[in-house]
Amino acid sequence: MNRPFNFSAGPAAMPEEVLQQAGAEIANWHGSGMGVMEMSHRGKEFISIYEAAERDFRELMAVPEDFHILFMQGGGWGENAIVPMNLSQGGAIDFVVTGGWSQKSFKEAGKYGQTALAASGEAGGFTDIPDPATWQLRPDARYLHICSNETVHGVEFQTLPDLKALGSSAPLVVDVSSHVASRPIDWSRVGLAYAGAQKNLGPAGLTLVVVRKDLVGQALTICPSAFNYELVAKNDSMFNTPPTYAIYMAGLVFQWLKRQGGIAAVEARNIEKARLLYDFIDASPFYVNRVAPAHRSRMNVPFFLADESRNDDFLAGAKAAGLLQLKGHKSVGGMRASLYNAMPLEGVKALLAYMREFELRHA
Ligand code: PMP
Repeated sequence: MNRPFNFSAGPAAMPEEVLQQAGAEIANWHGSGMGVMEMSHRGKEFISIYEAAERDFRELMAVPEDFHILFMQGGGWGENAIVPMNLSQGGAIDFVVTGGWSQKSFKEAGKYGQTALAASGEAGGFTDIPDPATWQLRPDARYLHICSNETVHGVEFQTLPDLKALGSSAPLVVDVSSHVASRPIDWSRVGLAYAGAQKNLGPAGLTLVVVRKDLVGQALTICPSAFNYELVAKNDSMFNTPPTYAIYMAGLVFQWLKRQGGIAAVEARNIEKARLLYDFIDASPFYVNRVAPAHRSRMNVPFFLADESRNDDFLAGAKAAGLLQLKGHKSVGGMRASLYNAMPLEGVKALLAYMREFELRHA
């Protein structure tokens, strides 16, 4: 198939091999006479799909045995409420706000716990990550929340903070929605990580939660049963009907990631893709990215034309050149190129060729 390159921030491009496989299996999975959408979640066929997905994710991301992997619904927004309902006990919760998504998490959690800002990058327009040494960590915090890749502002933690080294015993809660499976995660620093699937894992509708086992079992009584981590874990993510088709698709993506050589190989490609684009932007007076180089996202690259009156022209030309969904988020404007795992190096090269040609035409 000769498809355009799709730079959407999410729902985002899927590996084409995965789409082809899903297409071939859509009406009759492995000779079962049923498509995956039509199977009972309690039948042996779907259970085998679920177990393989869980096993493959654990292996790919080296998730230790003392963490549950939960396949849930509700999305990242849902987790903004589900996490505090499960972990805060109505007590203190600290937030480091580094962009639009952690800011939303901070606001939502205020309904359930005593939230406070440990640090914020807002004054600088979310172009930097405040130095962890300056974070105001409360000793009684039930957890500290960060978003390790800010999809809108293009700010990424290159290493997760070590809260113990900062003198805090609070577990770290991390929204990894937009860079999960693009790089390894140091689980020794994590209490809970969650991710909506629709960027790097599969279709929308599935939310992955990886939570240290000792943190479950303290949910507020108002927590809906379907969102209670303890109940979900006890029932192997089948307390209620899980998003079966999305789990199947994520499972195919995990198998694809293994065929790509695993997370280390995929990370090396992601580093290379991001480097090409940032180097080009930095070398050009025509395009600009304002994020501090040390904290630039490999996954989401927001950029602006020096002359913003050309934005519509740029996007129309990009579409004609087979480069889709480059418009920036409405809160930031400009452009945004999302370079998730499924974006091949050729896609980035095609984008650079177009940007170069557009600059030559208009500079
Ligand atoms: N967190 C991050 C980092 C995101 O990028 C998004 C979605 N763009 C969300 C949370 C919200 O996810 P959802 O729309 O699945 O609720």
